[in-house]
This record gives sequence, structure tokens and C-alpha cells, in this order.
Amino acid sequence: MSKIKHQINQRFIDSNHRNGRETPYITGSDRNQTVMFPPLVDDYVSNDNPVRFIEEYVKLLDLTELGFTHSVPKLTGRPSYSPSDLLKLYIYGYLKKTRSSRQLAQLTHLNVEVFWLLKKLHPDFRTISDFRKDNVSGLKKVCQEFTIKCKKFNLFGGELVAIDGSKFNAVNHNSKVISAKNITKLIKEIDENIEDYFQNLERQDLTEESIEETTAEDLKAAISKLKKDRENLSRLQTTLKESGETQIAQTDPDCKKMRTGHQGIDMCYNVQIAVDSKHKLIVAHDVTNDTNDLNQLVPLAEQAKEMLEVETLNVTADKGYFNEEQIAECESNNIKCYIPTPDNSKNKSKGLFTYKDFTYDKKNDLYDCPGKEKLTRTIEVTKHDKPTVIYKTKACKTCNLKSKCTTSKEGRRIYRNIHKGLIEPMQERMKENPSIGNQRKSIVEHPFGTLKHTMGHGHFLMRGKENVAAEMSMSVLTYNMKRIMNLFGIPTLLAIINYL
Ligand code: SF4
Repeated sequence: MSKIKHQINQRFIDSNHRNGRETPYITGSDRNQTVMFPPLVDDYVSNDNPVRFIEEYVKLLDLTELGFTHSVPKLTGRPSYSPSDLLKLYIYGYLKKTRSSRQLAQLTHLNVEVFWLLKKLHPDFRTISDFRKDNVSGLKKVCQEFTIKCKKFNLFGGELVAIDGSKFNAVNHNSKVISAKNITKLIKEIDENIEDYFQNLERQDLTEESIEETTAEDLKAAISKLKKDRENLSRLQTTLKESGETQIAQTDPDCKKMRTGHQGIDMCYNVQIAVDSKHKLIVAHDVTNDTNDLNQLVPLAEQAKEMLEVETLNVTADKGYFNEEQIAECESNNIKCYIPTPDNSKNKSKGLFTYKDFTYDKKNDLYDCPGKEKLTRTIEVTKHDKPTVIYKTKACKTCNLKSKCTTSKEGRRIYRNIHKGLIEPMQERMKENPSIGNQRKSIVEHPFGTLKHTMGHGHFLMRGKENVAAEMSMSVLTYNMKRIMNLFGIPTLLAIINYL
């Protein structure tokens, strides 16, 4: 069978040869062929290519006002690259999963879209990398400017915002973390080694002989290296003391060990975003090194409200954001929260009455219990660093339901956070509008999925919180750009820009 197939193929190839074709495949044009009208670089870039939008958008920006270095050209000396060209290169790279300066430098030689965008300029990787390092605040402002433009064109609904956080890997391997105890131990070892080397040096000076083929120069070099290591360790020790932490990352001291879902524990930053529900565009973001989301609601919700310039705003988040103080602060600022209450009590698993079995009587400030008794307000204590009031009753001692209610000899106690009164309207509101809380996942989880998996921005390339925040601004800028390019198409966006 295969022999017959081979014969048929051979006959087909022979007939192509007879007809003047070289191969039976689609072939490209001859590399040495000259053309009368060579194609322009512009011919290679279609009208709906994203680079046309990047070009026009960067033209709109006043890079001097945004604080970019070299935005005002020098009249003497070697001319530098224009910040607008380097910014265009970065935006293109972040859109196309290419963020490292070396890879971006390579693109300037290989990629026809980059030829077009940079007019065949080839900045070296150091110039590209220095641009990002030197323009940390400028890059953040470019992202902010884009959000303002989106607002101007009514791309935000300004009614509902979903907040969520995700862990992005830092430039720090898990093994490169050192504890305060280890630092003290290493400093002690270094001190002992330096002392040994000095004694060897003294001996060599007295005897004027090298010991075990080690010269005085070798010893001095070793001492100087140890001193440098000691200085670094002392610096880490001071940083640790100031921060009150017990361990520090050596490569990027700002990142922290964080839980990363199913992947376990990694050195990360906690990236927070607030996403508007209308077109799922990111309206506010932040990079923190807090290991959880408990204190992130107010900063993000207020940043979003300010950007959207609205009087009231609905905000939804998962139960990781449930913090009475934060919710109370939002509510007092006309930010209506929709955050589920976590049930951390173990009473349910023990078969005991839970908090839900007790009814709060707001008028009389007491709780009605399942045994038809009243738990009244007693003292105020601090529980989990929060001001809390204890409610109890003496009736527990003789209650028939005590075995179903508590294991404590003293009887059942209800702990009520002093801000609970402000939380209860939120809980009522959530019952009345379950659809708002249910929208959270569909609004906010899409951007993180796109950023991490489609755009490949799940890990940072720079060190330090400030630099990492600038990187995140680039990620948010390009996510929002990608989103509106997909929603409206490049020709429409170009028409809008030309209208400006
Ligand atoms: S144990 Fe106390 S709180 Fe519980 S049902 Fe009885 S009286 Fe009420």
C-alpha cells in the first residue's frame, strides 16, 4: 500500500518539475529578486495593528509634565533616545509578553512591528532597562492618565466595583530568606573568621613567612570580603529591627513569604485591583506586601471612588476583606460594601448553637438566645486587636440547653465588635440584592487570569516595592489597552484619538 502511495507522490513531484515548479509546496519569493518599488515599512503594518494605537496614544502624552527623563532634549553632547520611543517599546513589549530589557532589545532587530514603531531604532538593552529604572513615577502616571482618558470616554459605569487581590512572584527565591537569629549567628561567625585572619597576618608579620602558601595579600582580600558581607548582614539586621519582622528576603527585602493558593508558599507581592463592572476595566490598583487582604478595602475603594468621581459607589469583595473597621470607614464615606461574613466559629462543627441562632435587639442592646433568655451588655474588651463588647446572662447556669450551647462552665458569651452596628445594614442589603455579590467573580477574576496567564505578567522583574509598583502600572495600562482594543477595535480608537 505504502509503495503505491510513494509512486503516486513521485509522479506528482515529477509533473510539478515538468511544469516548472520547484516543489509541490507553496513557496516564498526569491531572496535575491530585486523589485522596482520596494515595499515601505508602513506596508507591513495593517490599519488595525495595535502599534498604530500605541503610536497615537503616546503622541497624546506630555512626557515632560509626566516627569520622564530626557523629555527635554539636550542641545550639547550625544543625543539620547526619545522617552516616547522607549515608552512605546515598553508598551508594545508588555502587550506581547516581552518585558525583559534584553528581549526588548532583540525585538528591535527582529520584529517588523517594532521596526515600524521605533522607525528602525535599535537601543541597547541597558538603555531600555535604565529607562524603566529611571522613570518609575512617570510610568505610574502614564497608567493613571490612561484611566482618566477611559473615564472621559465614559468607559466606566461608576456604579459597581469589584476588589480582589492576587499574589505575584517577586525576584527572590524561597531559599534566599534569612531570619534574625541566622543573621546574628552569621555575624558572629564572620567576626571570628576576621579575628583568625588578623592573627595569621600578625604571625606572618613577625615571622615574615607565608603560612600554608597564603600570602598577606590573600589574607587582606579575604578580610575585606568578610567585612563587606558583615556590612550587608548588619544592614539587613537594622532593616529587620525597624520593620519588627522576624525574617527578611535577601534579594528583594520588600517582598514577603505568602500563600499562593494551590502552589504553596512563595516570595511574593500582594497585588490589589478594583475593577469597574461596565467593561471590566481596572480603575485602581496597588501593590502591597501585606500577606492578607484585611486592610486593603479602604485604600482600593477610596482610590476607585476618587478616580470615578462619583458620590456613592457599590463595592463587592470576597470574605478575605471582611474587616469591621474597614467596612465602617467605607460606609461613612458613601461606599456601600457587599462583603460576605466569614464564619470562623468552630461551634457548628461541634454541634453547638452558632451566632446565627442569637437575635440582636437593637432597641434594648441585647441578644435573645435559643433558650428564650436575654444576654445583656457587660464589659468592653480587645479581641483579635479589635474593641469588642461581651454579652452574657446568668441564666446559662440552670439552662436545659447549655450542652447544646457552650462548653464553658461560665455559660455562653457573645462577642460583638463595636462596629457591628454598621455591618448589619450591609448584611441586610446583601440579602436584598444577592445579585451584586454574585457578580464579583465574573468582574474581577477575569483581569487577573488575563494578566497572569495570557499576558505572562505573573512575576515581577524588578526589585523593591516602588519599582514593582511601576511594573504593575505598566501591566494595568496594557491590560486596559488590550481590553478596549478588543472591545472597540483599533480603527474606532484611532478615530477617537484623532477627535481629541
Ligand atoms: S446556655 Fe445560656 S445562652 Fe445558651 S440557650 Fe441557655 S441561657 Fe441561652
